[in-house]
Amino acid sequence: MIPRFWRKIKYRYSLRGTHCKNCNSYFYPPRDLCPNCRRKGIIEEVNLPTCGRVLSYTVVWGEKGSPYVIALIELENKVKILSQLACRPEEVYDGMEVECTFRKYGEDGDAGIIYYGTKFIPKRGDGYVSKE
Ligand SMILES: [Zn+2]
Repeated sequence: MIPRFWRKIKYRYSLRGTHCKNCNSYFYPPRDLCPNCRRKGIIEEVNLPTCGRVLSYTVVWGEKGSPYVIALIELENKVKILSQLACRPEEVYDGMEVECTFRKYGEDGDAGIIYYGTKFIPKRGDGYVSKE
């Protein structure tokens, strides 16, 4: 099941979110409705910064396979978003600088539409040493 947002995506290589002009809140992933203003909300699509830093994080242990990291990330414009962070649980720390990466994660065979997902990765140059 592909969220409706991805069908409307306009710019593949930017981090798209929404902004409510009424209360000046930002949302990622994008939302059609502002939870603060409901029907009074005025929603517009915006490009969000693709760099930020980790405020806090959680390691999620799946039933099988390796654990993954979900981080609360503060973007450069102070917008906070939750995203999966593509690194090992022992590599993440509060304040770590991260950047957004885009990867193809699905293709619609009939229409030939390619969907992209976003993930954050440790930003290089922050003392990050990949163990891969
Ligand atoms: Zn609002």
